[in-house]
Amino acid sequence: MTEEKRRSTKRKRGHRRRGKSAGAAVTNNESSSVAASCGSASPIRSSSKSSSSFLDKMKAKLSGGYFRMLNEKLYTCSGDEALKYFKEDPSLFDVYHSGYQEQMSRWPEQPNDIIIKWIKDRSPSLVVADFGCGDARLAKSVKNKVFSFDLVSNDPSVFACDMSNTPLDSSSVDVAVFCLSLMGTNFPNYLQEANRVLKPNGWLLIAEVKSRLDPNTGGADPNKFVKAICELGFTSTSKDFSNKMFILFYFKKKEKQKSKDIEWPELKPCLYKRR
Ligand code: SAH
Repeated sequence: MTEEKRRSTKRKRGHRRRGKSAGAAVTNNESSSVAASCGSASPIRSSSKSSSSFLDKMKAKLSGGYFRMLNEKLYTCSGDEALKYFKEDPSLFDVYHSGYQEQMSRWPEQPNDIIIKWIKDRSPSLVVADFGCGDARLAKSVKNKVFSFDLVSNDPSVFACDMSNTPLDSSSVDVAVFCLSLMGTNFPNYLQEANRVLKPNGWLLIAEVKSRLDPNTGGADPNKFVKAICELGFTSTSKDFSNKMFILFYFKKKEKQKSKDIEWPELKPCLYKRR
């Protein structure tokens, strides 16, 4: 075998091996956001269809890995650390969100849709605060005034901040929403902030990943979670365990609040498996 032939066989084997584990489950969407986050076009010129699809797979794999890394970061650091992290490289937020959308597309039902319907069934005069709004779909889907908060703002209607510290006035909103956003290790601070900005009798709506609140798989006890929020100053009005992937909690802010030492359960990170 000539030297060139040997090299070519080696290259082909390498492609086959890598091709097998490449993240086929990750979308083109993700691959384009990694390309975007890398700034410039790929320095590797692809001359054939097969090498370009190989490159796409590699980009998708990188992007899926990036998403899982960012997701784990958000679940294992505090809100102010997460804010600093994304401030340094806001393009990572797009990488995170295309991976997030890809995960969500596999869920039979979206918690955001249920919350949007809940709001639409009530008065459009209710003022809403969406804590950890992502792409601000909630604000775009209802007639209500919605204040949208997230770590990065790609849309003029979104205010970039750590949601434990929003610019809202105290007792100024009717509905506070946390849709899969109690990610930081200091999540009780987010709920304290919601308590501050809610009017008496205001609503607190929380959707959380089921596994984070499943004691059978190392998650927190949902009763302890509800108890802690009630001690913060809320009444639990209903819980919905009927969805496969998430739980919905509905609370109302009590008229009168007493300060208490609260025992918050730990919410385990929601880590997505490599596919
Ligand atoms: N609520 C949206 C997005 C959920 S993803 C939806 O249902 O589609 C969770 C979002 O919470 C992410 O966009 C993340 O950036 C945001 N988030 C997490 N911690 C945050 C914090 N401390 N302050 C502001 N946003 C936060």
